[in-house]
Amino acid sequence: MPGGKVVVYTGILPITKDEISLAVVLGHEIAHAIAEHGNERMSEGLLQQLGGVALSVALKDKPQLTQDLFLTAYGVGSTIGILSFSRTHESEADHLGLIFMAMAGYNPNTAVNFWQRMADMKTGQQPPEFLSTHPSDQTRINDIKKWLPEAMKYYNN
Ligand SMILES: [Zn+2]
Repeated sequence: MPGGKVVVYTGILPITKDEISLAVVLGHEIAHAIAEHGNERMSEGLLQQLGGVALSVALKDKPQLTQDLFLTAYGVGSTIGILSFSRTHESEADHLGLIFMAMAGYNPNTAVNFWQRMADMKTGQQPPEFLSTHPSDQTRINDIKKWLPEAMKYYNN
């Protein structure tokens, strides 16, 4: 959120179940805040909006069908752009989040089980907000396993 605050909805608690899994979520969200993903996403959204407006103005004397085709093409292109961009953000937040939770004294190995639980949840009923904005897939879990040795260096027990 603006100002670098992180808010946790109670809807995530039945999935985190315990403190250490909540540390996975908080590490991930703090990483988004530290890396200022919110700001980037906001300015990217604004650029996309302005781009759309400029295109509408430029096309205003063209026949309706041409306008629709251009705007559809533009819309599809920019949606794909945003998706790949936020996947990079997610990956970055996963990576930094593991290190942050380890620094805070929580075993980063827990992240594997947590994201697996998230992946299982997604195939079930209506997901809470965090799930719908946070893709959980095998790639993410594999990446986390790859980063664990690095994160473990920050974990002292
Ligand atoms: Zn995220």
